[in-house]
Amino acid sequence: MYKMMTPGPTMVAPSVLQARGREFGNPDIDADFCEEYHALCLELAGLLHTKNEAYILGGEGILALEAACASLTEPGDKVLVIDNGIFGKGFADFVSLYGGKPELYTVDYHRPVDRKMLEVFLKEHHDYKYATVVHCDTPSGVLNEIDAICPLLKQYGILTVVDAVASMFAEEIRVDDWQIDIICGGSQKALSAPPGLAFVTVSDDAMAAMEGRKTPVASFYCNLLAFRNYYRDKWFPYTMPISDIYGMAEAVRLVKEDAGRIQRHQKIAAAVRKAVERAGLSLYLDYGSASTVTVINVPEGLTDKAILEHMRKEYGILIAGCFDVLAGKVIRLGHMGNNANTEDVAQMLAALTKTLNTLGFSCGCDMETVFLAER
Ligand SMILES: *Cc1c(COP(=O)(O)O)cnc(C)c1O
Repeated sequence: MYKMMTPGPTMVAPSVLQARGREFGNPDIDADFCEEYHALCLELAGLLHTKNEAYILGGEGILALEAACASLTEPGDKVLVIDNGIFGKGFADFVSLYGGKPELYTVDYHRPVDRKMLEVFLKEHHDYKYATVVHCDTPSGVLNEIDAICPLLKQYGILTVVDAVASMFAEEIRVDDWQIDIICGGSQKALSAPPGLAFVTVSDDAMAAMEGRKTPVASFYCNLLAFRNYYRDKWFPYTMPISDIYGMAEAVRLVKEDAGRIQRHQKIAAAVRKAVERAGLSLYLDYGSASTVTVINVPEGLTDKAILEHMRKEYGILIAGCFDVLAGKVIRLGHMGNNANTEDVAQMLAALTKTLNTLGFSCGCDMETVFLAER
């Protein structure tokens, strides 16, 4: 195997793997499971600072995004899709799929959405049922100011769907204070559980919008309404992936125990970027990066593929390239969740320095040394 320093999935703690191996009962029938599921949902909501109900869904993070759109969108609904990144833009597909009319608010991918410019736009255009926005858009690593954006949208009565899959538990998130109607998370990013689970919290306003639909939700698996009374009725719409949930419960316990995690992510991210810039590499973003991932332009004359392959074959470390409009243009260093620790990040940077030097880009410093001095 290799050291997995990608922006999700991340490396997983041994206790999480062990928890997934626990003996299990029938999650459809066993009332104890329903209690455990409910307790875990309450933990999630607590970590996200919300009184809203949380639901864990049996599927990878994308399921949360699609379920939010499927459950809110009725044919003809206008939806504002805030697009300053690949995941941001991708929401338009989910909106269209369920008959909605997405309107893209597209701005430069090299920086966060400018809240003042959005404010100006909204003065003229605010006839939307809901808006979608990504907190950390992982392909570029940009971090949007959802603390300002969501309350602004709410002023116009626009519900908000936030994709926080790649920021949750590594960046501060306060769902109630920031008036986020539906927030989407996944198990395999900063939570550092294996891929396989998605989760959402749903506000009263969002629930009311779903309950007030004139047309049924055009999906069974993506219908959040189906979860609404699970606890009262002790009933789930489908058999819950109980072993995944046991693993996630342990991962949530570890996150809760780790009070310094947000500051640690910030410190590590800042030191990585110092090292990268001192080496003479250029960051994709002008400013406004999340502390979970560092995105670097592929130096001229090199390819992402050659860098990734050399890193994996020679040093046993996996970093990521990118896809869509950023395919081939950037490489991405993950330092989220379990991977946000000095030792692993230092090893990754040592290997990257040697890799680039070998492939013909001569680094202006040993990135490991600079990283260790800066953090
Ligand atoms: C990882 C991620 C998801 C989940 O998508 P996959 O590509 O299937 O892992 C959704 N949104 C963001 C911002 C992510 O980083």
